[in-house]
Amino acid sequence: MNLKKLPKIELHCHLDGSIRPKTVLELALKQGLDLPSYEIDYIKNILIAPIECSSLKKYLERFEIPIKLMQSKENLRRIAFELMEDSAKENIKYIEIRFAPLLHTASNLSIEEIIKSVLDGINDGEKKYDIKGNLILSFLRHMPAETIYEVIDIGKKYLNNGIVAVDLCANEEHGFCKKFIKPFSLAKELGYRITIHAGETGIGENVLEAIETLGAERIGHGIYINSCKEAYDIVKNKNIVLEICPTSNVQTKAVNSIETHPLLNFYKDNLKVTINTDNRTVSNTTLTNEYTVIKNTFNIDFDIYKNFYFNSIDAAFIDDEFKLKLKNLI
Ligand SMILES: [Zn+2]
Repeated sequence: MNLKKLPKIELHCHLDGSIRPKTVLELALKQGLDLPSYEIDYIKNILIAPIECSSLKKYLERFEIPIKLMQSKENLRRIAFELMEDSAKENIKYIEIRFAPLLHTASNLSIEEIIKSVLDGINDGEKKYDIKGNLILSFLRHMPAETIYEVIDIGKKYLNNGIVAVDLCANEEHGFCKKFIKPFSLAKELGYRITIHAGETGIGENVLEAIETLGAERIGHGIYINSCKEAYDIVKNKNIVLEICPTSNVQTKAVNSIETHPLLNFYKDNLKVTINTDNRTVSNTTLTNEYTVIKNTFNIDFDIYKNFYFNSIDAAFIDDEFKLKLKNLI
């Protein structure tokens, strides 16, 4: 099984965690960003989380420098294009890229300009390579819920024309869903699809709440459904798709090691597992690498690969015609 050559689908990939180290170096020099060193190894060191990162919080610190450089239209467009390019080069045929527009307003770009710049970068990638991309608008859980309205209002202009869904991400606390019920039900009414990071670091109940109160159709990670029977059952019974990111899950201590990752048990119990990178740079990975890691650890064969690939297509926020096209690639 040649994992690099096989067609692949990526459903969970953060733009700010996937910026090339070389691009960070170039943009930092161009902008005169004050860094202790401009050596590429130093840059990699501050961007890539160690495999033994102590927590999700520590992992998230790796996004600080990229965010500082993602404050102009030009940079946003370039970074989105490069992510499309890197993905296309390992045969990803469809990717859903997520990012939080509200993190990119430091130089007074408008939300519209921010979104448009990333969409332009995605379009540039689509024109040059055999790949299609869509955007998921993320919101950080510690931000006030009221800030969501403006973004979903502007984003609706591009709904199903570049933008497909909304997401909640960043540090996970118990019962975070409550404060987002109103804006997320509005988003749903407007036609946004919904995926939520939940059950990543110890709190299985959050998965249950994300599905029941926010209408999540997919769950980012969801590892800790193992500790909450109700959450496990609803994921199984409602065919909720799990966006599993193996390397990231080890780094953030969602699991102790790749060997103890529950993904194969989930698969064997007919849960809908998909495999994703989370952050190509922060997790120092590619989708090919994620599949290689799980192939080597769990003896994933072609049938299981196909199951994950088809799950990703079924769960993708795209129309049936395109789904059929992706299914026929394998
Ligand atoms: Zn994520």
